[in-house]
Amino acid sequence: MTYNHSHEAFSQAARWLQSSQRIVAFTGAGISAESGIPTFRDSDGFWREFPPEQFAHWRGLIRTAFTDPVRLAAFVHAVIEPLGTAKPNAGHQALRVLEQHRKLIVVTQNIDGLHQAAGNECVQEIHGSLTEIALLSGKRQRTLAAAQVSQIAARLGHIKRRPLALVRMLFAIRPMLGAGLRGVWRPNVILFGEGLAEPAWSNAVTAAENCDCLLTIGTSGMVYPAAMLPAKAAASGAKVIHIDPTEGGTGLWLCGKAGDVLPPLIRAAFDDDMKGAN
Ligand code: NAD
Repeated sequence: MTYNHSHEAFSQAARWLQSSQRIVAFTGAGISAESGIPTFRDSDGFWREFPPEQFAHWRGLIRTAFTDPVRLAAFVHAVIEPLGTAKPNAGHQALRVLEQHRKLIVVTQNIDGLHQAAGNECVQEIHGSLTEIALLSGKRQRTLAAAQVSQIAARLGHIKRRPLALVRMLFAIRPMLGAGLRGVWRPNVILFGEGLAEPAWSNAVTAAENCDCLLTIGTSGMVYPAAMLPAKAAASGAKVIHIDPTEGGTGLWLCGKAGDVLPPLIRAAFDDDMKGAN
């Protein structure tokens, strides 16, 4: 367990949480890293092997489907395979405990459903959810079970050679992406260039502008407009605390993994001997 922040910063953060009534937890890929889901921008992240110019938007994905279907199958496999087995980690669970003490709205950029799996009740998924399947009209159809996700990943994992790769991939991902009498269905996720999920984004902005304290957890803050939320909260008078192994700017930073920092922080803020401190 390694921290790189002072005792003062940790105590300050605990006091801010303790004295806040409405809290927003704004989470990114980093909170799920300890559940075995890679982030995008870290050295072992998705973008290292699969560059965003090619894989982060529909245009690039469709082009790759025709030019290099084996590589596209490898990308989809890399994204969904960990989701079939991932479980909430200590960081997710600490947010569940926080919700028992204060009004908490979790605003997540993640598409993995782990906050809900941990038991948090108010979760705004501003980039959607990979397991939620919707028609192009936006109408939600169904949710894929973890076993279905694992089955799709297993089929994709066998696509190693070019002959019929596109056909085999389309067959493998048919529960997630396909067309039929009901129309075209796809995972309810937001790719680059698309508007954020609604009403989640409007709810997130309202929550940020009306909270007493906003925690950012495991986000590089590089994906807009989501990354505007901490500034919106600060402009409305909220305290902002950042939790991430990599310090990234001004403000109160607790440097460490979410699973190492969040549980003791929530305990320090809400254990009886700290109550009343300010
Ligand atoms: P990012 O990859 O840009 O940044 C990840 C951040 O997490 C970095 O700042 C890194 O230092 C930090 N981090 C790494 N390990 C950590 C840990 N154990 N605890 C706390 N922090 C840790 O990710 P982002 O800012 O979320 O933005 C990229 C986009 O990627 C988002 O839009 C999101 O939708 C998507 N994404 C989602 C998942 C998921 O659903 N789990 C996974 C990868 C990417």
